[in-house]
Amino acid sequence: MRTGELGYWWRSLGGPPTARAPLPAPTEADVAIVGAGFTGLWSAYYLKRAQPSLRIVVLEREVAGFGASGRNGGWVSGFFSGPPRVYERRGGHDGFTALQRAMFDTVDEIARVIAEHGIDAEFLKGGHLSVALNAAQEAHQREQLREARRRGFGEEHLRELSGEQLGARVRVAGARSATFSPHVARAHPAKLLAGLAATVESLGVVIHERTPVSEIAPHRALTPAGEVRARWVIRATEGYTAGLRGLRRSLVPMNSSMIVTEPLAPAAWDEIGWSGREVLGDGAHVYVYLQRTEDGRIAIGGRGVPYRFGSRTDGSGDTATATIESLRTKLGTMFPPAAPVAVDHAWSGVLGVPRDWCISVDADRRTGLAWAGGYVGEGVACANLAGRTLRDLILDRPSTLTALAWVGRRPAAWEPEPLRWAAIHAVYSLYRRADRVEQRTQRPSRLGALVDAASGRA
Ligand SMILES: Cc1cc2nc3c(=O)[nH]c(=O)nc-3n(C[C@H](O)[C@H](O)[C@H](O)COP(=O)(O)OP(=O)(O)OC[C@H]3O[C@@H](n4cnc5c(N)ncnc54)[C@H](O)[C@@H]3O)c2cc1C
Repeated sequence: MRTGELGYWWRSLGGPPTARAPLPAPTEADVAIVGAGFTGLWSAYYLKRAQPSLRIVVLEREVAGFGASGRNGGWVSGFFSGPPRVYERRGGHDGFTALQRAMFDTVDEIARVIAEHGIDAEFLKGGHLSVALNAAQEAHQREQLREARRRGFGEEHLRELSGEQLGARVRVAGARSATFSPHVARAHPAKLLAGLAATVESLGVVIHERTPVSEIAPHRALTPAGEVRARWVIRATEGYTAGLRGLRRSLVPMNSSMIVTEPLAPAAWDEIGWSGREVLGDGAHVYVYLQRTEDGRIAIGGRGVPYRFGSRTDGSGDTATATIESLRTKLGTMFPPAAPVAVDHAWSGVLGVPRDWCISVDADRRTGLAWAGGYVGEGVACANLAGRTLRDLILDRPSTLTALAWVGRRPAAWEPEPLRWAAIHAVYSLYRRADRVEQRTQRPSRLGALVDAASGRA
């Protein structure tokens, strides 16, 4: 079994493409983008399409797709992070629902762009199944359904499937029922990332790799080769943001870990079903997320070690044995025919979590500083909507996107250490305890609700 190495997705392509040239000398641009993940690349794409004369340079410390964008679960999700009340506080009654509708459209926008540019990303919009593995999870899901109806989202957006209806799609051991939404697609993250990077280059955007930015300041980004002066500097560094001067407490780098099996035999797939390739998760507080890959494997991810002291990030994603074992056990419990199948690769990555768990996008005309992120675990599609929103903000074109409630938010800073480490580890250990209680009692635990409220996650 392999571990780290930026994960299975890149390995399946023979590794990331040969590194592009670093920035050789100080330079000037209209827009400098720091970070070549989905946020940086979608921003570059939409800005260049809207105004081809713009000189856009992307500065990437490692290689494009080194971060979460090349390592994720491949859920291109029309859902997004954060409690609705936070978006409603900023955007009024429609603050959350307008964003939700824009996110649903975003999945189709990504499908449109990849079709236009012939990007083969194994993109398949099979929808999302959230599976209830006990009666408590079923109760949580019914509450989510009621919540969706209260906000005007009907059966066509989210509906309940009985155990029997779920079993006709995919057989998950112990599942009682599920919810289904059509607004999520599955993709091969590294193929999507590599295709997008090649597309922006073909439009004339310059990507410099092995180019770390040590500081971002109004109209400039500092690199070992000197300054990049630009009208706009976009920060697209997500889980790595704490490494930039002055931003140590802005976004916490939370870990997520994945394993992927060897391909399953046809007989195992006959037992499991899953021919619709829906992405699939459970309804636990510390949930898992899965996809059936194009080459017949199962990839499953979950929290593992939640956070490293001092907002440290790891390199290529080496993963603790205990995390690998717990994901493997969960996979075998949900899909017994997959239990004997060997794990081929395990890896981890960091995602960016703001103190209030909600996403922010902003561009400040006075300083020329722009940023987007704080997607928690759902940034693959959000980064596309953020890129289009940054385009409209930077080009000063007020639109329905610039009016969305995530624009202009300034979340509070995280607590200093050691409080930050202690609080995050406490939250996850209490969530795990709430999951055990719910499994034992089959009822929603008060502890889960308490931790939701105390952490600001719900
Ligand atoms: C294991 C895992 C599974 C996930 N699964 C899903 C999923 O299924 N669906 C989903 O929607 N989301 C998922 N996410 C989250 C999602 O991948 C991220 O939200 C998204 O990719 C963030 O994109 P980004 O471009 O903002 O950040 P990143 O992809 O992290 O890119 C940031 C880039 O900035 C570079 N950088 C950082 N600092 C500097 C610097 N100082 N100078 C220059 N460059 C710098 C980094 O090297 C990196 O390439 C997952 C995340 C992980 C870790």
